[in-house]
Amino acid sequence: MTVTVSGPLPDEVYDVAVVGAGVVGAAIARELARYPLRTALVEASGDVGDGTSKANTAILHTGFDAVPGSLEARLVREGRDRLAVYAEECGIPVEPIGALLVAWDDEQLATLPALARKAARNGYRRTRTVCADELRRREPHLGPGAVGALEVPDESVICPWTTTLAYATQAVRAGVDLHLNCRVDGVSEGSRRSPHRLSTGRGPLRTRWLVNAAGLYADEFDRLLGHTDFSVTPRRGQLMVFDKLARGLLTHILLPVPTALGKGVLVSPTVYGNVMLGPTAEDLDDKRATGSTAEGLAFLTEKGRRIMPDLLEEEVTAVYAGLRAATEHDDYMIRSHPGQRYVTVGGIRSTGLTASMAIAAYVVDLLSEAGAEPGTAADLVPVTMPNLGEAFPRPYERAELIAADPAYGAIVCHCERVTRGEIRDALAADIPPSSVEGLRRRTRALGGRCQGFYCGAAVRALFDAPSHGAPSYGAPAADSSSHGSEAAR
Ligand SMILES: Cc1cc2nc3c(=O)[nH]c(=O)nc-3n(C[C@H](O)[C@H](O)[C@H](O)COP(=O)(O)OP(=O)(O)OC[C@H]3O[C@@H](n4cnc5c(N)ncnc54)[C@H](O)[C@@H]3O)c2cc1C
Repeated sequence: MTVTVSGPLPDEVYDVAVVGAGVVGAAIARELARYPLRTALVEASGDVGDGTSKANTAILHTGFDAVPGSLEARLVREGRDRLAVYAEECGIPVEPIGALLVAWDDEQLATLPALARKAARNGYRRTRTVCADELRRREPHLGPGAVGALEVPDESVICPWTTTLAYATQAVRAGVDLHLNCRVDGVSEGSRRSPHRLSTGRGPLRTRWLVNAAGLYADEFDRLLGHTDFSVTPRRGQLMVFDKLARGLLTHILLPVPTALGKGVLVSPTVYGNVMLGPTAEDLDDKRATGSTAEGLAFLTEKGRRIMPDLLEEEVTAVYAGLRAATEHDDYMIRSHPGQRYVTVGGIRSTGLTASMAIAAYVVDLLSEAGAEPGTAADLVPVTMPNLGEAFPRPYERAELIAADPAYGAIVCHCERVTRGEIRDALAADIPPSSVEGLRRRTRALGGRCQGFYCGAAVRALFDAPSHGAPSYGAPAADSSSHGSEAAR
């Protein structure tokens, strides 16, 4: 297992280098790990899933509303099926709570049959129209004026953090080298005989085949290889997270009727037991603009008050924003350039979490067709991820686990009931967090109602303890692999 965080990169020629360790790049690396290839996953940040993949609405979509016939529609549908099975296998929290697409006036109500037909064209036939009375019975806290809904029973909520981490962990365990803090800023294109030479902040990296999964920066990376097929316009989505006390207000994901501007503002439970309101859709020109704004939050508050006035009486635990990699095209921009031994995975905008496993399989097919000859695929050893989901037993609830190891009974973060055992395991894991923020994504510590007011110092002290061996303590690059135990579920 090799995870490096600093120093020069290995002096070898990789078969494939995947640039970008978001949910998409990590999924591709995992898929490649099934083959007898030397694969590198190269990430600018100090952690996996640190870009758009950490800040989305965390819905495992059915793809019912995708553009029929598009690549996105196909990969979302396939990706959803694959990820649902994978989540079950490795303990990624998923709750198939279903969605209600709420119509607020007769005009919207009239569009529901067309949406059902569109869903059917996307291969999804389980939608059902729900009348106003039934809707009110099932969601009594909906605001006044809802006139009906389209039920999409298979929409689910999922933990996006665990998903990326599971892919990357499984890839690394199967032999993929993960190089963090490793931004690629130049490519000397190889020839048929010589490999590509990537220049990175940590020196050169050589590879025969190259996959661009750079998310918001996929267009800029593409230009390094002479392509101008698309430009990414970051589309910001701001979200508000309401306290767990709000969770009882709703049982479904409440979707608006989509417009030409996108999916619109939803209200959704999270697997962590909160309720989420958002996102906005703001086209920007700054790819780092992940801040929240007063206007954005005011917009969400106004929308939320209409959808569910009682929700606005609850406390807001956190606000955050993510940037979708929107382009001028209406579909994913996945392009193979066989002559360059290069595949671009661009324009993975608002559905990439759901589609990630199908994108990965598609990319490996493209590499094969382009002549990469990956060899015979083998099964991967399954991973078991720590459970962050509120609907599943957590360590503090498991007497037998605590009896065997009292650290699972020692709560450090009381809002989220995170134990010292879970924090210890995360810090010792194969891909340890490089920051307290990364630790939060692995354990939920600091993510609760007090946002670290009470437990912040204790969590920080555990993170800073020299024994945990996190990357910030800079193990030598050549053998800075981290081997660790997994938290049992
Ligand atoms: C508000 C919002 C809501 C969303 N809701 C959902 C949802 O409910 N369901 C769903 O399925 N999807 C959703 N999405 C979409 C989903 O989050 C994205 O499609 C997905 O995270 C994209 O993953 P990625 O790996 O392509 O990009 P990223 O996660 O951004 O990863 C790209 C990585 O590449 C790295 N990188 C960039 N350039 C370089 C370089 N030169 N060298 C090295 N590394 C580099 C970056 O640091 C980054 O970590 C939502 C998105 C947003 C913003």
